[in-house]
Amino acid sequence: IRVTVERGLRKELEQELMLDSKTKVYNFRYLNEWLSNPVVEQVAVLFIDIDDFKMFNDVHGHATGDKVLQALAQLIKDVIRSDDKVIRYGGEEFVVLLPNMTRAQAVKVAQRIQQALRKLTFARQKGRVTVSIGVAACPEDTVDKHHLLALADQAMYQAKRAGKDCYNCGGGSPAAYHSV
Ligand code: GH3
Ligand code: MG
Ligand code: MG
Repeated sequence: IRVTVERGLRKELEQELMLDSKTKVYNFRYLNEWLSNPVVEQVAVLFIDIDDFKMFNDVHGHATGDKVLQALAQLIKDVIRSDDKVIRYGGEEFVVLLPNMTRAQAVKVAQRIQQALRKLTFARQKGRVTVSIGVAACPEDTVDKHHLLALADQAMYQAKRAGKDCYNCGGGSPAAYHSV
């Protein structure tokens, strides 16, 4: 019995090591695990970066900024399926793994996230938060997982360059999404 309990505890600990304590989504360790498994399946990736978050912190305070990170993590979880994974990649950057999705389907998820964010306000209705999203898909864009992540990152930078608060799926055409 003790062995079973210890095994269970170890599994729990291993799970906890892969979680981000602030937002309760996966951390970079989970992503590294995923990247180290070379099996290629159909999967799409979103690379999400909060726009002008330094300014948001300066205006509303770091504590409110933390609440934004938590709310964004929850919002993303609310619009994805149960088998999709959210990872806090860096300070204000999230990666979403969407198994068995095409690029076009992933774009819909990006749109849902940006739409849902428009309904959220922070710091007593004064703080609006937007994100820039890069989209890439395997095997459409590449069959290499590391390259896939790099492409999603690059597409996110294209979205920033196109004026932020939009998504991009690589290539030359920034598919800006500015709803009313
Ligand atoms: P851009 O639109 O180009 O992404 O601008 P930005 O200001 O979001 O980008 P930059 O990389 O200059 O700043 C990221 C900011 O995110 C700076 C840092 O204070 C903030 N940040 C990172 N981690 C945390 C965190 O855990 N909590 C809070 N409140 N802020 C964080
Ligand atoms: Mg950033
Ligand atoms: Mg940012």
